[in-house]
Amino acid sequence: AKLDVFRNEPFTDFSQEPGKRAIEEAIAKVKSELGREYPLRIGGELIFTEDKIRSFNPGQTSETIGWVSKADRALAEKAMQSALKTFESWKKTPAQTRAEILLKAAAIMQERKHEFSALMVLEAGKNYAEADADTAEAIDFLNFYAREMIRLSKINETMPLTPVAGEENRLTYIPLGVGVIIPPWNFPLAICAGMTSAAIVAGNTVLLKPASNTPVIAAKFAALMEEAGLPAGVLNFIPGSGAEVGDYLTAHPQTRFISFTGSKEVGLHINKLAADTAPGQIWIKRVVAEMGGKDGIVVDETADLDAAAQAIVTSAFGYQGQKCSAGSRAFIVEAVYDEVVEKVVELTRRLTIGLPEHNFPVGPVIDESSYRKVLDYIEVGKQEGELLTGGRQAEVAGAQGFYIEPAVFAGVDGKARIMQEEIFGPVLAIGKAQDWREAVRLFNDTEFGLTGAFFSRDEDRIYEALETMHCGNLYVNRKCTGALVGGQPFGGFNMSGTDSKAGGYDYLLLFTQAKLTSRKK
Ligand code: NAD
Repeated sequence: AKLDVFRNEPFTDFSQEPGKRAIEEAIAKVKSELGREYPLRIGGELIFTEDKIRSFNPGQTSETIGWVSKADRALAEKAMQSALKTFESWKKTPAQTRAEILLKAAAIMQERKHEFSALMVLEAGKNYAEADADTAEAIDFLNFYAREMIRLSKINETMPLTPVAGEENRLTYIPLGVGVIIPPWNFPLAICAGMTSAAIVAGNTVLLKPASNTPVIAAKFAALMEEAGLPAGVLNFIPGSGAEVGDYLTAHPQTRFISFTGSKEVGLHINKLAADTAPGQIWIKRVVAEMGGKDGIVVDETADLDAAAQAIVTSAFGYQGQKCSAGSRAFIVEAVYDEVVEKVVELTRRLTIGLPEHNFPVGPVIDESSYRKVLDYIEVGKQEGELLTGGRQAEVAGAQGFYIEPAVFAGVDGKARIMQEEIFGPVLAIGKAQDWREAVRLFNDTEFGLTGAFFSRDEDRIYEALETMHCGNLYVNRKCTGALVGGQPFGGFNMSGTDSKAGGYDYLLLFTQAKLTSRKK
């Protein structure tokens, strides 16, 4: 059967009864299953360890989401051996068959989508729409990469090589080997599923080390892949300490590639460690590293100021600012500065804070260390700009969690720490520019380069800004968060990473190597 063209999974409308009821029922179901134990998956084996990760609800820290078994070096090595062995058969499995497993996984996830979302509401502190978008993106990645692998497997038909007289040439994209997949906690399903399924569908076998804050949703994903028919040993699930298991596998001579998404610090560390060659290693490891952001929005005097203010607030405070694409900076031209700042403050003050399961616009940050870090940056911000609203620890009745009031700082210099360093929390820094070109210059004055947005009604300026604003995902007259698979391939420049463009046509190439065969006729 011919596959239909890829389409994005629609978002759920939670303002209507069916959507609202579905997620509430799913939350109740997930709540009835809290506190379970989750094993490692190595080869066909489910392994329960003594030492476990306690996953908890960041909005209600006494609530345990689950106990997840933890790999040490010996278990990581066992997983490596399993992946190496399975690679010999998996690489010979036809692309079509591999793709069909992803399509099946997407279909199962779609059927149970609210359950996956509900788990993220509880484990990651997402409100309904944020969790729903995460699940929709995961479904999209599975559906998209399945189609992409089929396309790549037919490349000789769709993009024929230049004919050479007397010889028949063919190009094939073959897999690399065993890869280590290291996703972050902030899109604990979408990014985990996207990174893992891309590597797998391309014919590689993987060791998935999920983020330690969100290992239960990752365990559900690993189980789903098995349910969809993935052979044992293709996806080995090994939660554990980044420093211990991560460093061991990054340095391992038989690791062929590392696909990482997370902070700049860890990404650079992995890149450096992977550059060394261990005894017996016969390749240069490939590193795909998608890292942090210090994204922002530029507003000129011709812009729709209400739309701009709304986009600034949504981009800065959606999921408490814990997105790599979060708009943590805004640069506004002098002529409309006071007006836009006032609107931003007003919209921010309207954001209510509470438990994610009650669907508040603002929930908790992910854990204690993040909470401390954000509060420390708010103290730094008080030296660097004027705190116009928020910035305090927030009390939520009946909940014990990491709640912080969204903070807006104005009059912040472009070189200030809160303008330059990724905070990864609900903190917005606003700077004033003389004119729109200065605002663009301030926007570009960063080591990062992930997302940005330009608000203007002037066509010439938009044309110029599209060329001069230097970031991987640049938007005009809309928020800088929320890229869609297929339509808006995602990845950033400079210290934001290798610009791998997840959800795009180049992505699978990163997990393959092209082989040319030429045969005399
Ligand atoms: P993090 O760097 O702390 O952790 C990411 C992953 O790396 C986790 O699974 C962690 O356990 C693991 N890890 C830690 N030390 C390791 C080591 N020595 N070796 C191997 N793995 C190790 O990041 P995080 O807090 O999980 O995620 C937030 C960060 O991710 C932010 O900086 C955000 O901007 C970034 N992010 C980027 C993108 C993107 O597409 N560019 C997307 C989402 C998040």
